[in-house]
Amino acid sequence: MTTLHFSSALLPTGWATDVAIIIDAGGTIEAVETGVQSTSGSTSGVAVAGMPNLHSHAFQRAMAGLGEASGPIRAGQEPDSFWTWRKTMYGFLAALKPESVQAIATHLYMDMLKAGYTAVAEFHYVHHDQDGNAYSDRAELSRRTIAAAEGTGIGITQLPVLYNYGGFGGQEPNDGQRRFLNNADQFMEIVGALHRDHKDDANVRVGIAPHSLRAVTPELLNDVLIGLNELDNTSPVHIHIAEQTKEVDDCLAWSGKRPVEWLLENMEVDPRWCLIHATHMTNAETDGFARSGAVAGLCPATEANLGDGLFPARRFMDQGGVIGIGSDSHISVNVKEEIRWLEYGQRLFTRERTVLSGSPDTSTGRRLYDANLAGGAQACGRPIGALEVGKRADIVVLDTTKSPMAGRREDAVLDAWLFATDHNPVRDVYVGGKQVISGGRHDEEDAIEQQFQAAVASLK
Ligand SMILES: [Zn+2]
Repeated sequence: MTTLHFSSALLPTGWATDVAIIIDAGGTIEAVETGVQSTSGSTSGVAVAGMPNLHSHAFQRAMAGLGEASGPIRAGQEPDSFWTWRKTMYGFLAALKPESVQAIATHLYMDMLKAGYTAVAEFHYVHHDQDGNAYSDRAELSRRTIAAAEGTGIGITQLPVLYNYGGFGGQEPNDGQRRFLNNADQFMEIVGALHRDHKDDANVRVGIAPHSLRAVTPELLNDVLIGLNELDNTSPVHIHIAEQTKEVDDCLAWSGKRPVEWLLENMEVDPRWCLIHATHMTNAETDGFARSGAVAGLCPATEANLGDGLFPARRFMDQGGVIGIGSDSHISVNVKEEIRWLEYGQRLFTRERTVLSGSPDTSTGRRLYDANLAGGAQACGRPIGALEVGKRADIVVLDTTKSPMAGRREDAVLDAWLFATDHNPVRDVYVGGKQVISGGRHDEEDAIEQQFQAAVASLK
């Protein structure tokens, strides 16, 4: 049993002072007491629950910043877009080996911890070797990301991706997709093996991710959901849904329905689902999605980088919709940047301020931090996202000694962090009660950096 003391902490009931968090040997919070002075004098800083990062493609961290050089549109050349970026990304991933997958993910997860993320949902779609053949263990590359999480200490929800087609209606996949492809039986072999090997591991959860309606058929999706439910009928189901207008047009051409509309009408979308990039929706889709209780997985920095569009966040949240954030392509790994972009996108669009605060009395930073904690925890399918009894002791301690956070209290601390800091105030991070970041650094930081650089060099 461990006890951590904080001068101030954000609990589900609000801010409290002199907080003792008592953690059992397995890393779960056993008790939270307030108004308790530390006898050892080891009280430290302002504590908040660690943020879940609900959408990650870890390998893409190694190509962050490499998609910016296409230049202006030239005669006869396709304008740079999500689809041209995807071609670049397919070219990049062709060289990945198991060791490079693990080294890149390890570095990424360390960066996530340093940024204040204590859990990640890894939407993992590169399954096969460079020729498109299965490894002797089909789950090899999924296991590499779990090993990366274990190596850094972050909690992980591994979501093997179901990908078998190149477009709506069961179109042939292209050569760039050969490392992703599995039929239902092959896919369930991966999910079953991971589920069996990690079902008693408090820092690991296994779910699935049908890549998108482009990459599956309704029959394949149904077969896999039946198989998943036999293993675990509460495990998370994530899907990319309506990131690009072309995707909406193609879905209409295939089914006469828009992607979110089709999914809500044809699948039992409920709180175990997380719809990533539900960017392009009608009001009826937005309202129906909010009512389903499923999570909207939002990745504002990546969605901006890829030119996706703006999610209708105000309408969705006004209807009680559940949201969470992810860093997706990892062009940025930064809680504050995702939350800033989430709010600033709405401000630029509506020409108003504090758009997502919900009411004139609520601080924007507090509302968005609380909302993303709850939605992220739901999407990860793990007992995280709050400093309360029964949840994992995933704790971020903020350094409030520097401006603009210095002298601020309670919600003003969160607002200063999320909207006004340029430095990173995340000082100490605990996952399952174990300290993984101290004074802004990871214990294995130098070795992790070297292995990452070697992995990136090997891809050239
Ligand atoms: Zn994604």
